Parts: sequence; structure tokens; C-alpha cells
Amino acid sequence: MKIVVLDGYTENPGDLSWEGFEKLGNLVVYDRIPTDATSVIKHIGDANIVITNKTPISREVMNACPGIRYIGVLATGYNVVDIAAAQEKGIIVTNVPEYGTQAVAQFVFALLLEICHHAAHHSNAVKNGEWKRRGDFCFWDYPLIELAGKTMGIIGFGRIGQAVAKLAIAFGMKVLAYDTKQDVIHNHENIQFVSLDDLYKNSDIISLHCPLFPSTQGIINKKSIAKMKDGVIIVNTSRGLLIVEEDLKDALISGKVSYAAVDVVSKEPIEEENPLLSAPNIIITPHIAWAPKESRKRLMDMAVANLEAFINNSPINVVKV
Ligand code: NAD
Repeated sequence: MKIVVLDGYTENPGDLSWEGFEKLGNLVVYDRIPTDATSVIKHIGDANIVITNKTPISREVMNACPGIRYIGVLATGYNVVDIAAAQEKGIIVTNVPEYGTQAVAQFVFALLLEICHHAAHHSNAVKNGEWKRRGDFCFWDYPLIELAGKTMGIIGFGRIGQAVAKLAIAFGMKVLAYDTKQDVIHNHENIQFVSLDDLYKNSDIISLHCPLFPSTQGIINKKSIAKMKDGVIIVNTSRGLLIVEEDLKDALISGKVSYAAVDVVSKEPIEEENPLLSAPNIIITPHIAWAPKESRKRLMDMAVANLEAFINNSPINVVKV
């Protein structure tokens, strides 16, 4: 059985092993390939098993590669695969529903704590001689912020949203949450579930954890920002298109939003003309919340387990339309 990994580099830049897949077939790993259909078709060739993270597998690709029996997505989100086409052709598609919840929640606080303390900036200033020059026993270049007593608004109270809430409570914060799923809403202590408008009105910090759907695209825009507290902080580790980036830039310039931190942007890698690159008071990281080695190892192990289960005729984590 021929297994091809189309874009293995971000999952395994060299600190993990592909041996789990190697044991299951004849493995070819590409670090990355061009994502146009012609190139994807060429690289898949007659493979039966395709492993992809962000390389799109369209109907056209499936038509041109009739050997494909299984597509394993090395991620939670599987929008890169045409699931309807796969289902019609009897191709099994799997994903890894959970591997990085704690890592993403931790990263939300890495971003938030950087906004609160600017530790990297102050360390660099000290190394550049600034402490000595200022003459006082301490100095700071930004307002320093204490999180205890602040209100954290969480939009999307699924796995990551709930993990973020636990950390927020540990920091002494109040938590407001909004989710469209009713059963999520009723089962949590210490969390106040509110309408989206109340969350906007009362949160000092807003953290986004809902998936990107047509209904959530652009949820943070000029209108919703106008409903927020003056000086609100916005953190986005979910998907870039949840935010209308031009509107966030305007709000950062006016100070309506005092600070923002985003791990995801509308088009990745970021384009030169992305408005956030020239916005003030924003931290932008290159989609790394998921990527500690521990999370990637969990992702690799789960993806291998998915393929093993498929080979044993009892597929797990199958995604459907
Ligand atoms: P999840 O499915 O467990 O939770 C998502 C929650 O959002 C669900 O409770 C759902 O009901 C809710 N939701 C759906 N539509 C909503 C809406 N319109 N308004 C409010 N809530 C809504 O997913 P998760 O594991 O918590 O992951 C959340 C998101 O985080 C993913 O969709 C993905 O985009 C993102 N993510 C980012 C990284 C990264 O590296 N930056 C890594 C993993 C996941």
C-alpha cells in the first residue's frame, strides 16, 4: 500500500518520526508541494493513502487519482478536503478531533501575558543598557496590567474555550461565555452565559474560540467592536477570517481596542498588504498555538491510529458531510 504525505514539514520539521506510518505501508513524505490541482495530482500519483494537513484535495484531484481509498487529515479542521466528493467515491476521510486543546489555551495566555507585561520588550531594553540609563530601580515602557478581577469574554465555549475559561478563573478573572449550543451552556459552574451583546458590553478581554463558518465569518467587525468596552483587548487563536482585519486596524488606531493579539490571519502565510501588519498595538504570531512538540506528537499518534483502524476495517474519526 502506497502512503503519501503531501505537506509534512509543519507537523514534523525533524523532531518527530514518521515510523508509525512507515510500518503501515510504502511511505513517501513531501515537506510541502504547490497546492494547485495539477501539482497535487502529480504528487499523489497512484497512492492509496493520502495524508494532508493544509493541501487541498478537491473533486478534480480525486477524479484524477482513482487509487485513493483513504484521506487522513493531520488536523482538526478538514475543510481542505471535498468531503461530499470523497463520500460519493467511497473514500474514507478522517481527522484528529483533539490534540492541542491545552496548547492553544496556554498560548492564549502567552499572548495575553505579553500584552500585560511586555516581558520580551523589557528584557531587550535591559540588555540594551536602558535600566542603567534610567537610573531608577525599575522602569516600564507600557501600562502594566493585572488580570485578576478583569472580565474575560469567551466566544465559542467548546474544548478550547472551556480550557481557556479554567485558566482565566485560575488567574482570578470573571468569565462570560457565549455559545450557540444549548447543552454546552447549562453544564458549567463559575461561568456566566450571556448574549453576544452582553459579552461585548462587559468584557475587558475577548477571546475567540468558535470555528470559522459562514455564520461566524467577520463576527468581529466595525459594528460589534462599537458594542465593546473602550480599551478592550481582543485575542484570536481560532481563525483569521473571524475578524474584519481593516476594522480591527481602525479600532487599534482609534484606541477603541487597546491591544490585540492574533495567531491566525485571513490569508496564511500573511500577505504584505494585510492591514494588521501596519496596525499599532498588535501581536501577530504565525499560527503556532497548536505546535508544541507534545501536541504534534499526539497529532501524529492519532493520525497513525486512524489509519491503522481503517486498515483493520474499523475506521475511527471518520468525517462526513
Ligand atoms: P470545538 O468544536 O470543541 O468548539 C467550538 C465551539 O464553538 C462549539 O461549542 C460550538 O458550539 C461553538 N460555536 C459554533 N458556532 C458558534 C457561533 N456562531 N458563536 C459562538 N459559538 C459557536 O472546537 P475547539 O477544539 O474548541 O477549537 C475551536 C477552534 O480553534 C477551531 O475551530 C479552530 O479554528 C481553532 N484552532 C486553532 C488552532 C491554532 O493553532 N491557532 C489550533 C486548534 C484549533
